[in-house]
Amino acid sequence: MVPVRVTLTQHPKEKPQDESKLGFGVIFTDHMFVMDYNPEQGWHDPEVKPYGPFVMDPGTVVFHYSQEIFEGMKCYRRKDGGLQLFRPRDNFARMNRSAERLCMPQIEIEQAMAGLMELLKADADWVPSTPGTSLYIRPTMIATDIMLGVHASRTYRFFIICSPSGAYYENGLAPVGIYVESELVRAVRGGVGFTKTGGNYAASILAGDLAEKKGYSQVLWLDGRENKYIEEVGSMNMFFKFKDALVTPPLNGSILGGITRDSILKLAQEMGVPTQERRITVQDVFDAAARGELEEAFGTGTAAVVSPVGRLMWNDREIEISGGEIGTLTQKFYDRLTGIQYGTEPDTLGWVVPVE
Ligand SMILES: *Cc1c(COP(=O)(O)O)cnc(C)c1O
Repeated sequence: MVPVRVTLTQHPKEKPQDESKLGFGVIFTDHMFVMDYNPEQGWHDPEVKPYGPFVMDPGTVVFHYSQEIFEGMKCYRRKDGGLQLFRPRDNFARMNRSAERLCMPQIEIEQAMAGLMELLKADADWVPSTPGTSLYIRPTMIATDIMLGVHASRTYRFFIICSPSGAYYENGLAPVGIYVESELVRAVRGGVGFTKTGGNYAASILAGDLAEKKGYSQVLWLDGRENKYIEEVGSMNMFFKFKDALVTPPLNGSILGGITRDSILKLAQEMGVPTQERRITVQDVFDAAARGELEEAFGTGTAAVVSPVGRLMWNDREIEISGGEIGTLTQKFYDRLTGIQYGTEPDTLGWVVPVE
């Protein structure tokens, strides 16, 4: 592993005073981590340096063919003031799976961890402390060759930027309305749906806009072949609590394997809640609701942690779930998971990595 050079800024920015107005992903810290790749040297010159723009040739591959992948995780401030991460190595391992699909080089997980730790040390004061706030961390890899031929780039840049973020639920955990998209699709099996790549998001923006205009905050995607199996929501995986089990769609190639999703499955096991990873149609969900067997529904992802679903709209029919309230189990998962992340609950599964 190459030691990380650290160059601290001479011009620290003013930090936001009011932590209730942080929003999401609009303010960036004083530093960033950067390293570059070419086939001769591999990843080289890892450095924490002052946050700032990259100057790039307009012919750079990433601008044209979206050879790009990213990750999303958070750094949490404990009550005692210390900082901690949640399953960060799983994020870098997932990034390597995305890299493989997009013909990009693997990163050495411990090298990325070392860079992240140095960055967090430099920007430690940027981690907010108001309950529910955190420092959002965005590792990214882009293709940097200058050419318009459609080939894998030879050179790449990996960087990590950080953004102090407000509480996702400013007024406490609240159920959302979700629109089931029955025409547009996000991903198909065999494609890149299982990777965290910008193109998946570019493909999803239109449906998100349309759903928002209709008064729904998120889109629930169906499978791209038959338009009937539930895949996932925006940037969240979906869970349905039926009478007999907690069900989530299997990772079949077009769904992103969320670390929160995996954590919920493991916590359910710990709590003695039966789980099933199986294909499920929207019709199944609406039928179960009609029979009174759909108890709760929620989405999971790093940003929202657990997001209760109160309404589901599909082909002009809407169902209400848990009476539009937060389900009991949903609340339990939210409390347990955020408790582990902020260090107020025992980390029984060894997920927490302190920053020291
Ligand atoms: C990041 C992401 C998720 C959630 O993954 P987590 O690891 O739980 O944050 C779900 N779906 C998509 C499409 C995503 O990009």
